[in-house]
Amino acid sequence: MNKDDLIVIAGAGGFIAGALARRFRERGFTRIRAVDKKPLPLWYQQVPGVESLCLDLSEEGHCRRACEGAAEVYNLAADMGGMGFIESHRVECLRSILINTHMLEAAYRAGAQCYFFSSSACAYNTELQKDPNVRALKESDAYPAMAERGYGWEKLMSEMFCQEYWAERGLATFIARFHNVYGPNGTWDGGREKAPAALCRKVIEARDAGRDEIEIWGDGKQTRSFMYIDDCLEGIERITHCESLVATPVNLGSSELVSINRLVDLVEEVAGVKLTRRYKLDAPRGVAGRNSDNTFIKQALGWEPRFPLAQGIERTYRWIEQQYRGRKAGKRTVS
Ligand code: NAD
Repeated sequence: MNKDDLIVIAGAGGFIAGALARRFRERGFTRIRAVDKKPLPLWYQQVPGVESLCLDLSEEGHCRRACEGAAEVYNLAADMGGMGFIESHRVECLRSILINTHMLEAAYRAGAQCYFFSSSACAYNTELQKDPNVRALKESDAYPAMAERGYGWEKLMSEMFCQEYWAERGLATFIARFHNVYGPNGTWDGGREKAPAALCRKVIEARDAGRDEIEIWGDGKQTRSFMYIDDCLEGIERITHCESLVATPVNLGSSELVSINRLVDLVEEVAGVKLTRRYKLDAPRGVAGRNSDNTFIKQALGWEPRFPLAQGIERTYRWIEQQYRGRKAGKRTVS
């Protein structure tokens, strides 16, 4: 890629795409167009030297505007959040199909060289995720399909759009199935936050209020793997420039399986506290267990996510602590 090729990044007012825009900028790319439907003052990061546009990409004309002149298109825009959000906003999640459908067509018409789509582990068959001691999910486990209602089905269908744009029209598409991404500059409050950020915030709130108790959604025995943001960005770039992965969904996640209780232990260690856990058994909790089988990504790229969870949680906790203090002092924060 030339440093002055135009890179378009959709969803850049949010967590992962915002960090991706910063990464490309820091690596010397001079023409980056960041797009999100949120008004600019609400973006989690605004990167100097990056063209930032406020456009609703569920509309076809806006996608054409966004993709004009693009060499590479990264679509990370979606209406999404943690389990609390996706279990109660299935319509909004499904409607994200409009974004990918119009963005693909716009990228194709603009003559883009490649197109990246952020899929999710929620695309996997939920029948295979009923046990906390789950077998890690490999790419073929998406079919026969029984994805997460709403959010997961949208991802699976959008993956198919990407595959057919390659098969029938020759647009080189790349698809990563992210497994729980966390880190600084992500949503940490407001209802869309995911487990690592939510747990950090709850521990910070308990300390601040002098409480010795926190609420955990579910029984704490659910298992997941968590990928630090830096690994996610590295993976996106590697996948999008690996010819053998064209139109082939690939896991992008950590294979370090931990229970929610273990995650709470890690947060408590950083905070230097030990709290009583109150389990809210009727709260949204998602599948019982989910892990990423990284055999295929290692084979294709000779690489897999590897940032240590304890270190990533420490960085995330410190950042959320700053945000929390900033908000108390009346500053505008990310959420
Ligand atoms: P995020 O919510 O922080 O960012 C998504 C952004 O998309 C938001 O800023 C939102 O305003 C924007 N958006 C939504 N609808 C839009 C529209 N119509 N037009 C333009 N912009 C729109 O989420 P994130 O964590 O950064 O996730 C990025 C992508 O990765 C999403 O596609 C998500 O489904 C996928 N993903 C994330 C995770 C994770 O753990 N964070 C896991 C699996 C998949």
